Amino acid sequence: MARDVAAGGGQKITYTTSDVDMDAFHARFDEALEAVRAAAGEEHSLWLGGREVGGSHEPIADVTPMDTSFLLGRFEAAGEEEVAEAVAAGRRGQRAWGGRPWEERVEILRRAASLIRERKHRLAATMSLEVGKSRLESMGDAEESADLIDYYCSQMEDTDGFRREMARVTPHERNIDVLRPYGVFACISPFNFPLALSAGMSSAALVAGNAVVYKPAEQTPWTGLLLYEIYMEAGVPSDVFSYLTGRGEEAGEPLWRHPGVDGVVFTGSREVGMRIHAGLSREWIKPCLMELGGKNAAIVMDTADLEAAAEGVARGAWGLQNQKCSATSRVYVHRDVADEFVRLLLERTAEDVVVGDPTERDVNYGPLIEPSSVERYERAVARAREEGELLTGGGRLTDGDLGRGLYVEPAVARLPLSSELFVRELFVPFLAIGEVSGLDDALRETNRAPYGLTSGIFTGRDGEIERFFDEVEAGVTYANKRTGATTGAWPGAQPFCGWKGSGSTGKGGCGPYYVAQFMREQSRTVIGGDA
Ligand code: NAD
Repeated sequence: MARDVAAGGGQKITYTTSDVDMDAFHARFDEALEAVRAAAGEEHSLWLGGREVGGSHEPIADVTPMDTSFLLGRFEAAGEEEVAEAVAAGRRGQRAWGGRPWEERVEILRRAASLIRERKHRLAATMSLEVGKSRLESMGDAEESADLIDYYCSQMEDTDGFRREMARVTPHERNIDVLRPYGVFACISPFNFPLALSAGMSSAALVAGNAVVYKPAEQTPWTGLLLYEIYMEAGVPSDVFSYLTGRGEEAGEPLWRHPGVDGVVFTGSREVGMRIHAGLSREWIKPCLMELGGKNAAIVMDTADLEAAAEGVARGAWGLQNQKCSATSRVYVHRDVADEFVRLLLERTAEDVVVGDPTERDVNYGPLIEPSSVERYERAVARAREEGELLTGGGRLTDGDLGRGLYVEPAVARLPLSSELFVRELFVPFLAIGEVSGLDDALRETNRAPYGLTSGIFTGRDGEIERFFDEVEAGVTYANKRTGATTGAWPGAQPFCGWKGSGSTGKGGCGPYYVAQFMREQSRTVIGGDA
């Protein structure tokens, strides 16, 4: 029987539900925000094998995208030397960690999940400031992190630590099959879900018995540090988990290239992921778990509930300013309902999007992460004006306090299906809308992109839902989801597997096959011996 996400976990905020006393939540968030602001501006070291270390590159100035003059902290930036130290520490510590009974690792990681729940307001406030996430999005990120860790622990419990008795070929033998850790994993994460993705990837590697060298995104080192502290307090040995802040080319590149790294788990852009995948395996093939970008389409058919479709698309497109790998970034709408759908979508966009500082209570739309995102947005808007019709948005928002940050309007453009804006991931609040003549057309266009992460359909016909599931090239699919056309996956409910250019393994985070990917199989045959 299916379990409910909320069951056992008490009340919580997910990306689609908020089953909590909102006044109490906001009061605690306010307190946490004040504490985080008061702690801003400090200098932070790397932590390599338990040793506090400086970096060999220019430190990273971590600023909030709401006000790029507000320094959250200054973080040391690693290079090759620090990478070598972190990998060496991992190699030293991993043997004992991997050799411990799996139940002990589960106990430690479950403690980490509890600490995340205890500190969720502080964690969420930090993420709101670092990423520009709304309060609800940040709290979803914190809650998801704890649920991911628990879910991955349960995968060890359900399989007796991936150990099973096998058949005998002769009466004298005993055959056991075990999955064993690879060794040291490099774990490299993106900025947009700085806790959930870091905690998810690293906890799976750790519970499986690997050591981890963790490099958070350069935009979110503070959230990464809080995760490091939680692991240490929970009892993860310091030589088994290193915290290595740094830039992609300076720290990330030497990390995955280091010969002492046995595997890489990476979430980020297709460009960087493809580079790692192509270069990682030299002497032998190493596990390379990639969760990459998306260009997620919503299909709106002529029988759809158009109000639901407009709301689902607006929520999928404008949440976290479209900077989610699952964000709805294109819509294929049946030509018979296109005008009405567009009217409703523009209405939802105008009425529901509340722009401002997303650490404030009722704001649900904040800034972009960095200046290069604003430039990408401006280029997309210029191109849309040339190729089709820009229906709303397109400008930078600079009124009052917004001028201190990286704010842009949500943009919607109606474009010819041939436009490149339908197939390139932009990761900015730009939604491309194209008209189609039916489901064949819509599926063909959807599948034309080199990505295959999430996709959604709105239709009143069950047969179309089945065809959509069978024919769409995407790992995470939704039908008639008003709370987010293509967004909102949760651990244990929606495995998050990227197809094509969106992933490498065919098995997703949040899913039941995840932890096993951090292990390799060993069959053990003993002839004779004790019965
Ligand atoms: P990014 O690829 O720019 O950076 C991700 C991480 O890789 C960062 O830590 C960065 O420092 C590091 N990096 C950069 N160059 C590197 C190199 N040469 N070697 C090693 N590491 C390097 O991505 P981003 O801008 O942080 O995040 C946005 C991207 O992530 C989008 O494409 C989005 O779709 C994707 N994403 C995917 C998922 C998923 O589950 N599929 C989830 C979230 C984000």
